[in-house]
Amino acid sequence: YASKSRQCGSLIYHAQLDPGSQVSLSLLSDLRHAIKHEELRLYLQPKIDLQWGRVVGAEALVRWQHPTRGLVPPMQFIPFVEQTSFIRKITAWVLERAAQFAREARDAGLNLRLSVNLSTRDLMDQDLPGKIEALLAPLQVPPASLCLEITESAIMDDPARALSTLEHLHAMGFKLSIDDFGTGYSSLAYLKRLPVDELKIDKSFVMAMERDLDDARIVRSTIELAHNLGLSVVAEGVETAKAWGLLSRLGCDEGQGYFIAKPMPQDEFILWARNWQPPEAEALMAESVMA
Ligand code: C2E
Ligand code: MG
Ligand code: MG
Ligand code: MG
Repeated sequence: YASKSRQCGSLIYHAQLDPGSQVSLSLLSDLRHAIKHEELRLYLQPKIDLQWGRVVGAEALVRWQHPTRGLVPPMQFIPFVEQTSFIRKITAWVLERAAQFAREARDAGLNLRLSVNLSTRDLMDQDLPGKIEALLAPLQVPPASLCLEITESAIMDDPARALSTLEHLHAMGFKLSIDDFGTGYSSLAYLKRLPVDELKIDKSFVMAMERDLDDARIVRSTIELAHNLGLSVVAEGVETAKAWGLLSRLGCDEGQGYFIAKPMPQDEFILWARNWQPPEAEALMAESVMA
């Protein structure tokens, strides 16, 4: 089937695909082929602490090195795959590679926390906590070196089951993060009950905060909210020195974004981290809408 499914050159990997359709079936068989033939790639984007600029971790982001389409970004296949249980295969692949990378980094003297994105269907999998533990134990990577990112929407799909999986993961020592915070529809009452360690402010707010006072206020309030709940807070989408400076003055703990580095192939990461020099403090002091 592999060579036949390869021919779907004009196929558009669309989130709205009906998972039962012919096109969807060939996309899924393409992806099965992709895993088997090592076409998936693990990209890593550094997370730094905004006060000192130290590299504290990395987010694992998948790409598909497609034989004819080139490097396919996750938004072109993940939203579709998330509607099927095949997402668990992708998650398992990413978790395995991230765990191996955490080991490599430790061997190279870098203590990094690896963040991996989970989907609703991963949270519905009662065996997930055990599977992750089985992956990390032989590598001697402590559970706190892995952070699992979940969106508000993924949790709110089936809050009771999500909560049970999250509690299990938390009890095992894994870190938990709410991704794209501010764009979903979770309630604060719910947030309060979740055993999470981190809030990640969605990049739409961070990227707009230099020119839009409302976005700047949302960012400021989210940082306060996170800290008041005892959570650490990460900004995604840090694209300028000015944004870094503002976030650090607002007390945001960590940042991730193109100003620091774009996601890179995993074999480039250790060298990048060794060569990384945070900018001088003065470079981050520029005027902003919310001084
Ligand atoms: P996300 O988890 O919110 O990941 C952050 C996305 O923002 C990444 O896009 C990253 O490249 C991008 N980003 C980070 N900093 C900046 C910035 O300064 N400017 C701009 N414009 N973008 C920035 P990417 O890698 O394309 O991933 C998109 C989404 O695909 C992820 O959003 C996540 O929802 C999903 N995804 C990626 N990898 C996986 C995976 O392994 N599993 C699952 N379930 N979802 C994944
Ligand atoms: Mg994420
Ligand atoms: Mg995010
Ligand atoms: Mg996002």
